[in-house]
Amino acid sequence: MKNKYIIGIDLGGTYLKIALFDSSLRFKEKKFFSTSEFSQPESLIDGIAEAVFEIIKENKLKNSDILGAGLGLPGPIDVKNGVAHFFPNIPGWIDVPVAKILRKKTGLEVFIDNDANLMCLAEFRMGSAKGAKNAVCLTLGTGVGGGLIIEGKLYRGSSYAAGEIGHMPINLKGRPCNCGGFACLESYIGNRRIATLVKKVFKKDIPLDEVSRMAAKNNSKAIRVWEDVGAKLGVALVSVVNLLNPDRIVIGGGVANAGRVLFSKIEEVIITRAMVVQAAKVKVFKAKLGNDAGMLGGALLVKEHSGGL
Ligand SMILES: [Zn+2]
Repeated sequence: MKNKYIIGIDLGGTYLKIALFDSSLRFKEKKFFSTSEFSQPESLIDGIAEAVFEIIKENKLKNSDILGAGLGLPGPIDVKNGVAHFFPNIPGWIDVPVAKILRKKTGLEVFIDNDANLMCLAEFRMGSAKGAKNAVCLTLGTGVGGGLIIEGKLYRGSSYAAGEIGHMPINLKGRPCNCGGFACLESYIGNRRIATLVKKVFKKDIPLDEVSRMAAKNNSKAIRVWEDVGAKLGVALVSVVNLLNPDRIVIGGGVANAGRVLFSKIEEVIITRAMVVQAAKVKVFKAKLGNDAGMLGGALLVKEHSGGL
């Protein structure tokens, strides 16, 4: 265990992020690759293997120096068998045995899990959910991911697919969602949907980070956008708070940068609509680890499997 390095990998819709950590989970190196060049699962897995080779070679290490690689993927994962079932926002993946293929290609121990679970694991061990007993973590982006810590442990569910807060319906009728359902939270507050709302409110396209800056300067239209997002997310979280009675909710991803206006609205909805006992206990925090959470979670997954946690 000592002096062994760990590789953490986070695959998102836009970037493949890979990091080399030392055994204390300090970053030794971080690399980002665009995922747009990999249209097929095969080429994407090849790309991941190449990135692994590169980071090992550049740091003058050998495979025997690496404890393993942990990879976060944006969809439901069979954690036990290392199979990615499908990705709601990346087409072409059906029951791909990612861990087995990568083990063969790289010669390393490879473990995979859902990316939001890994973000949640990282925030729980090292970030805003540290010390919590029961926590709910969310990542807001193109998709809306979720992870659950229950009684101090990551809760994966009966087929390892728990925590899909983004696919909780928040209405009887609504837009079809990439998951096969409809009226899912994600179809109301995913980035694409917020961009449509921005266009409606401002009568033009404005990048979401700019809308966040405008809200910080009290622009009333920008505030309207984030209050609308906060109200919808708040309603979904009221159900989560009543169901799980968490002590913390941690919100990450680009949209979390909307700041105070978004968080105030979420808190207001929880306080006014959740049951008194649960609402009094829960606190809402912004995620602490930002873009690093997925890679750190990948490394923590390797530690978990190696008995190092
Ligand atoms: Zn859905």
